[in-house]
Amino acid sequence: MLCQKCQEQEACVHLALSGKEEESHFCELCAKEILSPSVLARLRWDSAGEGTEGYVHATVHILRVEDDSIIGRVLKSSLYAHGSELAIRPCFVSEEQRRVGVEFTFTCPTLHISEVVIDRKP
Ligand SMILES: [Zn+2]
Repeated sequence: MLCQKCQEQEACVHLALSGKEEESHFCELCAKEILSPSVLARLRWDSAGEGTEGYVHATVHILRVEDDSIIGRVLKSSLYAHGSELAIRPCFVSEEQRRVGVEFTFTCPTLHISEVVIDRKP
């Protein structure tokens, strides 16, 4: 399948927008132009479980919701050990996800990880 933007390269990124039945197909180059790098990094993590250099990825199971932090156990991460606990700043977790038992995934540029994760418990 050809990229629908340049019509030259083979499409390798397939996007289905929620609420739409049609998929969009882009080659990697055009996808990079259209999508911001963090969206691409997130897509790669979500679809293939692959990390992207310069980003921290983590999927956590929320254990506790506190006033100043959300405590989650790491299920999968490019940086943190499986089973370790993270304290995440609540402003990065949408309100409907701030509940015990929810699976929460984030992608964050490594340089800004201290803005998302408060501290790491062993
Ligand atoms: Zn293209």
